[in-house]
Amino acid sequence: MAQLSNDCFAFGGALTPIDEALTEIEGRVTAVTGTETIPLMEAMSRPLAHHVVAKTAVPPFANSAVDGYAVRYSDLDPDGDTVLELVGRAAAGHPLRVVPSPGTAVRIFTGAPMPAELDTVFMQEDARETATGKVTLPRGLKKGANARDPGEDVGVGDLLVPAGKRLTAADLALMAGQGLTEVAVRTPLRVAVMSTGDELAQPGDEAHSGQIFDSNRTMLIGLARGLGATVTDLGIIRDNADVISETLQHAARSHDAILTSGGMSTGEEDHLTASLRRAGSVHFWRLAIKPGRPVGLGQIGDCAVVGLPGNPAAAAVCFAVLGRPLLARLAGIVLPPLPRFQVEAAFGYRKKKQRREYVRVRLEDRAQEDPLAFKFPKEGAGLLTSIAHTQGFVELPEDLTQVIEGDKVPYIPFDALGLQ
Ligand code: AMP
Ligand code: MG
Repeated sequence: MAQLSNDCFAFGGALTPIDEALTEIEGRVTAVTGTETIPLMEAMSRPLAHHVVAKTAVPPFANSAVDGYAVRYSDLDPDGDTVLELVGRAAAGHPLRVVPSPGTAVRIFTGAPMPAELDTVFMQEDARETATGKVTLPRGLKKGANARDPGEDVGVGDLLVPAGKRLTAADLALMAGQGLTEVAVRTPLRVAVMSTGDELAQPGDEAHSGQIFDSNRTMLIGLARGLGATVTDLGIIRDNADVISETLQHAARSHDAILTSGGMSTGEEDHLTASLRRAGSVHFWRLAIKPGRPVGLGQIGDCAVVGLPGNPAAAAVCFAVLGRPLLARLAGIVLPPLPRFQVEAAFGYRKKKQRREYVRVRLEDRAQEDPLAFKFPKEGAGLLTSIAHTQGFVELPEDLTQVIEGDKVPYIPFDALGLQ
């Protein structure tokens, strides 16, 4: 990871706008993962290491798109039926090797190479074959109908898949269509995940009085794996600056990024920032976001450290908005731009200026109008159900102060953020 500058994230200063933080990440963070060549069949969802450019046209030759009869367009009577003699047969994988003479037709099947000089195909449903080896063809078909041109799908030199794209099944198929069997992809990002908090109990253990089970770690491990990372579980770390600092330092030696949650505020029991400062450097972000705000980014050597809020819904939001783009960049993944759809607010809402809010909503489709967005009924950065039982965020920009029921607002679906 490139060195981030400290000055614009000065401790205790104004809240950093989200776009500024993201621009900073885009400008300064580069991919740290290596590359490896693996079988195409194993490469689903892996980030592509280099652009893949087509060396072969697809289809490589003109061929029929239907089962039917191939003809020369110039032989057809524009004013009535045309009767042509059938002189051959072409099937997929079995081209006709002779040039049919003018005034004849060829029985042809889907995927068969177009016989030389023939340019148009009648669907078999539209033609009538006679017992005497002739075919009657109706008028009205356009020149070139039902014949696929060479290179119609892919031309030589076309960019098939751009570097950094997480490979989809269709991408893999495009490469298979070039005859490729292997592909160079990025090695997985090595991410360590820990939770901090004396109140946290390990699921499976007993939760004593005053304790809650650690839920963030399970969520963050899932989210990091969702980005293709290899995850080390560092467990629960006590609210002790020395222990946190040592844990971070140790993990930083063998990981590209560390995700932690809790202890990022400025309370007496919040040690993360101080520990991180001791172990490495802190680019402290009090981010202008709700839910969230106590979100920090730092680094220890080349390892990025993302300090997320302890409140679970805030941790999810801050990971989606900030942690995910950061991890993606480190991993060499180029994320597609976030889609924002217009929906209609079925709720009224007031907010402070100069911070961006992510309201968790459920959508209801309507036939002719924008979908209706229903706000999760309870407020609170700690409510995991506000993420688990909704479908997306209504994103309220910094300068907005209120939403009136019926307002059109932008919506980001969870699946675009890896939250679903
Ligand atoms: P903190 O950010 O440490 O001040 O924590 C804020 C709130 O989030 C507190 O109520 C914590 O108990 C809760 N919290 C912190 N870490 C976790 C976790 N890993 N899982 C569930 N809740 C947590
Ligand atoms: Mg805490």
